[in-house]
Amino acid sequence: MESITNEELSPNYFGTHVFTQLQSNTQRNFMTQSLIKPVGRMFYLQRCGVALDAAHAGVFSHPACHTAPARVFGSDTFLHVSGGWHDAGDYGRYVVPACKAVADLLLAFRAAPEAFGDDWDIPESGNGVADVLDEVRFELEWLLKMQRDDGGVYHKVTCAYFPDITANPQEETADLFVFPVSTAATGDFSAVMAMAAPLYESIDRTFAKKCLRASVNAYEFLKHSKPLPFHNPAGVVTGQYDDETDTDERYFAACALYQATGQSYYLANATAHYQAGRSADFGWADMGGYGNAVMLFGQRACEDDFLAGRIRSDLLATAEQICERSEKSPLGISITEFLWGSNMYLLNQTMTLLLANDAQPSERFRKAARTHLDYILGNNPLGVNYITGIDESSPKYPHHRPSAAARQAMPGMLVGGPDEGLHDLAAKTLLSGKPAAECYIDSVESYSTNETAIYWNSVLIYVLARMSKLEA
Ligand SMILES: [Zn+2]
Repeated sequence: MESITNEELSPNYFGTHVFTQLQSNTQRNFMTQSLIKPVGRMFYLQRCGVALDAAHAGVFSHPACHTAPARVFGSDTFLHVSGGWHDAGDYGRYVVPACKAVADLLLAFRAAPEAFGDDWDIPESGNGVADVLDEVRFELEWLLKMQRDDGGVYHKVTCAYFPDITANPQEETADLFVFPVSTAATGDFSAVMAMAAPLYESIDRTFAKKCLRASVNAYEFLKHSKPLPFHNPAGVVTGQYDDETDTDERYFAACALYQATGQSYYLANATAHYQAGRSADFGWADMGGYGNAVMLFGQRACEDDFLAGRIRSDLLATAEQICERSEKSPLGISITEFLWGSNMYLLNQTMTLLLANDAQPSERFRKAARTHLDYILGNNPLGVNYITGIDESSPKYPHHRPSAAARQAMPGMLVGGPDEGLHDLAAKTLLSGKPAAECYIDSVESYSTNETAIYWNSVLIYVLARMSKLEA
């Protein structure tokens, strides 16, 4: 791998430290709202398979990338699966985390549509559709290409290995492979397609119908399939996103299809797959929380009062536990371990608080949610605003190939944050012995603390959109 030092990269930031300048709730709310656009634009800048022009993408413009047909791994079949967002600091496209990102964004739009304008400065801006829905559709169109005729959904499309850290998207020209169907990918796909269908009904009825058909087909596949976990074949080192348990994805799909169709069959399946204790499960491997959110706050009241009651009481109990941890913590946050991607875990728990606040409005839930967001924006032991390009404390050297190639940080990206496991060499070398909350280094080499990902930005969007509404 070509190495690059921080010194070779030039800082890219504007303004001074935002967090410490916030004087009033009005200013704070203005800041929360103003972050939605740059954080949302990251998805546009991660688009794959199309050219990004300089007018919209600036230094991150590039010709169409990853357009070659991809070989179905282990076969002589090639598929056209261009499109979708690059996942993270690499250029892989993975169905499982992509569906978490789509679910976050659709839940955010459903709960707070007024937070989303048609002015994100993307090619579709001004078309009369909120840009978040234009952006999500770009991902959904790619996901549709990842479905097999029998309804099963391929797990990912990537090369066998990662390119150099300074490779531009169009410079990754190694062979692309489509990897086997997994039931986690198929369940997530079924769920987000069912979530999408009603939201696109008034925008493009044909597309909405296509989403619903694809969702049902995926569910039919699941019904007849044993669990199919995914593991990288020998010689493949790109992201694995392996998930040994698919019952939460099956639950999520059943909930979303019940909401989209009203059919009692899906409600019965949701009831059968429901498990208590999943209220805070918003990780790419643990999707039960999305099923709960869809069931409680979808367009259709859950006809099973007993199920709805269980989901609601479990959600409220989980939110109380999150508040207790936050109130005990000297940092005011609910995570007690700083795992790889700790910022996402904190924001996932913030999502739980905000959903609980919908179920039963509570100043306690809202206060903890605000404290969590303030931590992300700079009220943390390192005084770092963990979103690139926002103020002078923002990360300048994310582990993110387009940023390393452009010699400047793509703005609006949430980095992973402290990882007490010190999972990369830079972290091991520079952070050994530090308190857990300080195990973060703004280094392009530190993929375990300073990488970025679409499914981290998506939950941040959810929190920003909901907080801006609550505090308006
Ligand atoms: Zn690409």
